[in-house]
Amino acid sequence: MDLKLYNTLSRNVEKFIPIEEKKVKMYTCGPTVYNYAHIGNLRTYIFEDVLKRTLKYNGYEVNHAMNITDVGHLQSDGDTGEDKMEMGAKRENKSVLDIARFYEGEFLKDLQFLNIQVANHIPRATDHVKEMIELIEKLEKRGYTYIANNNVYFSIDKFEDYNKLANLSLEEMNAGNRVEVDIYKKNPLDFVLWFTNSKYENHILQWDSPWGVGFPGWHVECSAMAIKYLGEYMDIHCGGIDHIPVHHTNEIAQSEGTLGHKWVNYWLHGEFLILDKGKMSKSSGSFITLNNLIENNVDPLVYRYYVLQSKYRKPLVFSYDRLKDASNSFEILKNKVRLINENINDEMLTNANIIEEYKNRFLKYINDDLNIANGFTLLHEVIKSEKLNNKDKKMIIDDFDKVFGLKLNEISDDKEKLNKDFVNKINLLIAEREAARKNKDYKKSDEIRDYLFENNIEIMDNKDETTWKLRI
Ligand code: AMP
Ligand code: ZN
Repeated sequence: MDLKLYNTLSRNVEKFIPIEEKKVKMYTCGPTVYNYAHIGNLRTYIFEDVLKRTLKYNGYEVNHAMNITDVGHLQSDGDTGEDKMEMGAKRENKSVLDIARFYEGEFLKDLQFLNIQVANHIPRATDHVKEMIELIEKLEKRGYTYIANNNVYFSIDKFEDYNKLANLSLEEMNAGNRVEVDIYKKNPLDFVLWFTNSKYENHILQWDSPWGVGFPGWHVECSAMAIKYLGEYMDIHCGGIDHIPVHHTNEIAQSEGTLGHKWVNYWLHGEFLILDKGKMSKSSGSFITLNNLIENNVDPLVYRYYVLQSKYRKPLVFSYDRLKDASNSFEILKNKVRLINENINDEMLTNANIIEEYKNRFLKYINDDLNIANGFTLLHEVIKSEKLNNKDKKMIIDDFDKVFGLKLNEISDDKEKLNKDFVNKINLLIAEREAARKNKDYKKSDEIRDYLFENNIEIMDNKDETTWKLRI
């Protein structure tokens, strides 16, 4: 069955055709490790994880590289402002490398909490300066660069179709550029490949280079590391939509400038997570981390579940209320799965054909540009199905979960481990039912009992109080 993906390059949903049969080379832009990742960043990493899992579900072997930016990313993506790593070091009164290693560790922990599969290669920028210098030298030889104010710039006018990914005119791209003007640039969209001392005298991390002691620009890092780990031709490159007009556009210009041919076939971009009050950004300080959610008793997988409910190409609004709703429906789902898992006996026969039918439908949905929401609708259909026995259901649920990554096969029957919001909701419904019974509104009290039963909660009316347990 064809896998179809929306390619930013063509602005179309296209059939995915890998360069090498059954293999995929995929690069995703990693974090700048000067602070915690916020849950917006993590939405993008969850999207990329689901893409990778979908590729694997289709039988592809995925070779995935993701960089760690620990030098060279300035405050604005267009080369102005302070180095983000140095800002982090100043903020915490630590060395740049201490900051880098600490936040890299925190980021990898976040990925683990969210059940995101780690990349095959996680190169750090500071370990690949040699490769970056070599790439800049090649660009220099091919006539794409110039030196001004002792910095090496990429001249976008030398590269045909510079704007092909953003699909905007150069004027429009420039208008979006809110950056202060760099008088040394020949074209305001030119960008720095190598900074030297002259611009940032106090920069802590510096390397010798043919152009003087200095440090690389952010964009060149991704090109150099992607080419090193995945080769000159790549299937998929991803990131958040903010990267389209500057970072990814510049990556294409440098990489295709050095390689002399098309570099990446499919560019995929995840839409932003926004706060109900506005944009989530680290610079404004208004950002929520996974640790913040955990401190609020939110299981990280609830956040994953929340993200998976909406299409990756649509903006997603975040609020704690919405998260609470997601948390309740995730708990109900887990509870249903648990009930299935606990009621399987060895004699049950497997209905192989029906299982195959469900798997094919699932594949059809996820292959439609990652329509995971339809995958969930199908999951609920499986859970309710009267044609399938519990053994079949478990097989299908475990199979779908290869893509969802929600650990649906590791569900506990321990009431103590249930999410607090969910327990509160049950207690609230029981109280409502009590009140209905006191008012002799038996219709309502029965409705509540049935609702709870459907969600695998059994209530027991004892002499003094009503208690509940998970159905087994
Ligand atoms: P950064 O560490 O800023 O380079 O961002 C890491 C990843 O998160 C990149 O792929 C960004 O495009 C993405 N990103 C940044 N802000 C958001 C947001 N609010 N929602 C979703 N993705 C984001
Ligand atoms: Zn990148």
